[in-house]
Amino acid sequence: MEKYLTEKGNEVAALPDLFTWTEDGVRLISAKCNSCGTYFFPAYHAQHRPGCSRDGVEEVLLSKKGKLASYTVQYYMPPPPFKTEKDITPYPIGLVEFPEGIQVVGIMVGCELEKLCAGLEVETTTFTLYRNEEGKDVVTWAYRVLEN
Ligand SMILES: [Zn+2]
Repeated sequence: MEKYLTEKGNEVAALPDLFTWTEDGVRLISAKCNSCGTYFFPAYHAQHRPGCSRDGVEEVLLSKKGKLASYTVQYYMPPPPFKTEKDITPYPIGLVEFPEGIQVVGIMVGCELEKLCAGLEVETTTFTLYRNEEGKDVVTWAYRVLEN
């Protein structure tokens, strides 16, 4: 998966192979089984429908935008290995449905907790966890509400 950017500008991905930067913005790195049509995430976590021949898995980038299928608000800090410089509670975690039909969870940014509801349009973005010794922002993927 070397073909994908693991950093851009002052941001560096906390973990490789989960998301990347494209000209179209931040996109999750998924994979699709061309035999049974199943998408999975992370791309290295292959899942198939029962009886699938498991032939023809290929990496694909998920659409940038999706719809909020469900969410919850966390009032405690995420456990290790999650690492941040500051207390981020309370924070919403969203379950986002992408047009490809797969749902992926992530931290939500740029939204008011009271206005969250299923069906909101979101786009994939990044969330800064901490700044490393080289002065770069170590980021993970997140979702930004587009119509809140
Ligand atoms: Zn399959």
